[in-house]
Amino acid sequence: MRREPNLLIVQKFGGSSVANVERVFNVAKRIIETYKQGNDVVVVLSAQGDTTDELIAKAHEIDLHPSRREMDMLISTGEQISVALMAMAIQKLGYPAVSLNAFQVGMYTNRTHSNARLKKIHTERIEAELDRKNIVLVTGFQGINRFEDITTLGRSGSDTTAVALAAALKADKCEIYTDVDGVYTADPRVVKNARKLKEISYDEMLELASLGAKVLHNRSVEIAKKYNVELVVRSSLTNAEGTVVKEVCNMEKMLVSGVAGDKNVARISVIGVEDTPGKAFELFSLLAKHKISVDIILQSIGRDGTKDISFTVARDDLHDALKLINENKERLTAKDVVYSDKIAKVSIVGAGMATNPGVAAMMFEAMYNAGININMISTSEVKISVLIDEKYTEDAMNAIHEQFRLAIER
Ligand code: ADP
Ligand code: ASP
Ligand code: MG
Repeated sequence: MRREPNLLIVQKFGGSSVANVERVFNVAKRIIETYKQGNDVVVVLSAQGDTTDELIAKAHEIDLHPSRREMDMLISTGEQISVALMAMAIQKLGYPAVSLNAFQVGMYTNRTHSNARLKKIHTERIEAELDRKNIVLVTGFQGINRFEDITTLGRSGSDTTAVALAAALKADKCEIYTDVDGVYTADPRVVKNARKLKEISYDEMLELASLGAKVLHNRSVEIAKKYNVELVVRSSLTNAEGTVVKEVCNMEKMLVSGVAGDKNVARISVIGVEDTPGKAFELFSLLAKHKISVDIILQSIGRDGTKDISFTVARDDLHDALKLINENKERLTAKDVVYSDKIAKVSIVGAGMATNPGVAAMMFEAMYNAGININMISTSEVKISVLIDEKYTEDAMNAIHEQFRLAIER
């Protein structure tokens, strides 16, 4: 049982925040500060620095397309290193701490290796450790499936571990500590003029995250919205006030709240498909059956009894998608399959755009002025995305951000 009137606080620290010994101790001290105030503290950690990328590179030295099960077994280890080291650092500073992995917690996911979804989190072990007055350090990113195999939640998945834990434990606060001091109108490393938002709604944050703003994992925002977990995104290195992510915000006047870029995009074009009913269904159900998500879709007008269907997938899925389509080329009546993995998606997000015609035109004008060609376009009530040559991503983000600067200013 929780001890009143303490707060239960879930804190998450990203990879760069725990990248070396000095940072581990810096974070350990922050955690201890929260603990010393009388709070119960559960901490989720990511792998140190570039550990996950390095582990992936190691796997690729053996096989460029290794089994997803073994890949999860490998890349989930980075988080285990972090929690063990952090527990040691906290203990060294004289405070009680215990590290737990997904298996020890009982962090259950579905079966989808490398992009698993959390299904159920057991809270008993964590609660028992809190009752023993321990600071509890939990591996981010990891899960286990019902066969007790290790899964991972997708790149950046530690955010999702943290928010899901906060929801499961009914935590009073969920703080996401990272290497920037909040959510900005665009990636501050790409757009110099980006400004920090005081607050942002779940819906807009979800769009931004899904469209490539990697400051939060998109599923973490989905879970936060579903369970009404208020998040604070802030810096692990400074005391600057962060950005609050919550249900409603005072942003009615905002036309556009942010710009996002995403290079994890590949385009596939299936050429010369018979122009008869059911072809799109066959193609996309084939991909769905193999858990390949499709994003932007464009179908050409039929000509001479055939049509072309172009669509985008995540780059990690390109190899599998091409293999599937080529294996089924005859059934799909495709004459040819071509692809590009040198493209990127740049998007704007804003709740205000649904009621404001002309936003798309403003965005395209910015692209035109910057001399950047648009490949594909996709719109919804809250976002507009364009597909462009990857090498213009940063230019496009800056040009679009500048175009909407007045709208973005608050
Ligand atoms: P962590 O290791 O803490 O999880 P990430 O690298 O995953 O950190 O996410 C933080 C990074 O997200 C920042 O360094 C920044 O470059 C990037 N980023 C992208 N879009 C945004 C945005 N709109 N606001 C803030 N940061 C952003
Ligand atoms: N270590 C994992 C990654 O690099 C998970 C995370 O950092 O959130 O994607
Ligand atoms: Mg991250």
